[in-house]
Amino acid sequence: MPEGPSIIILHEAAAKFAGHVVRSATGNSKLDLKRMEGRKVRAIRSWGKHFLIDFGDFAMRVHMLMFGSYRVDETKPAPPRMSLAFDNGQLNFYSSSLKYIEQPLEEAYDWRSDVLSPDWSPRLARVKLKKQPDTLVCDALLDQAIFSGVGNIIKNEVLFRIKVHPETTIGALPPAKLTALIRQARDYSEDFLEWKRRFVLRKHLLVNGKGKCPDCGSKLVRAYLGKTHRRTFYCPHCQVRY
Ligand SMILES: [Zn+2]
Repeated sequence: MPEGPSIIILHEAAAKFAGHVVRSATGNSKLDLKRMEGRKVRAIRSWGKHFLIDFGDFAMRVHMLMFGSYRVDETKPAPPRMSLAFDNGQLNFYSSSLKYIEQPLEEAYDWRSDVLSPDWSPRLARVKLKKQPDTLVCDALLDQAIFSGVGNIIKNEVLFRIKVHPETTIGALPPAKLTALIRQARDYSEDFLEWKRRFVLRKHLLVNGKGKCPDCGSKLVRAYLGKTHRRTFYCPHCQVRY
C-alpha cells in the first residue's frame, strides 16, 4: 500500500502536467471523467496518501487504498480506473478510489497535519494527541487526521526507532517519548522517502516483515493490534510498554 512518501514521488513525476490541458479522460470509474476533458490542470498537489489534481473550481482526488497503482507515460496490462492524456504525456491509475472534491482544497485539507508538508505542525499533532489519552500509539500513528501520510510500515519502524511498545496508550507515554513519537513520524517519513527514491527502502527496514530484532536478537512479535487491527511487528524485549 502506498504510504505518504510514495505519493510524494508520484506528485513529483506528475508535476509536469500542471498548466496542461486534459485532452482525454477515460477509464472504468463510475464518475463522470469527461468533466475533466478540455480543462487545464491548475496544480498537482498531495496530502498524505491523497493525490490531488486541482482544476480550480473542483479537484480530482486519487486514493490508492491497499492495491492501487499508477503509471506515468506508460500503461499496465490492466484496465485503468482513470487514464488522463495530455499533450506532454499520460497519467494512469489502477484499482484506485477516485472522488471529486467540490470545495477549494485549502478548505478541504489542513496541510499542517501532513507529516511531509512544509506546513507540518508538530505542535498541532501534540494538541490532538493530548485529547485522546486512551488511544494506543499504534492506532494514533495511523490516524490520518493527526499524522497524514503515515502508513503501516512507517508505524512499525517509528515505534521500534523510539523503543515504544505498540500497545502503550498516548496518556501513558513519558513526555520525551511523546515528543520523539511526533518527531519521528516526520523524520522517519523523510528517510523512507529518500530510501524509496534510491530504491533501497527494503534493506533499511528493521522490523517490518522481519523475524529477529536487529538490536538484541529476540524473536519479533507479529500481531494484529489496536482498533486499526493492522499487522504490527515489535520487539518484546527492546520496546517498552509504559
Ligand atoms: Zn530487541
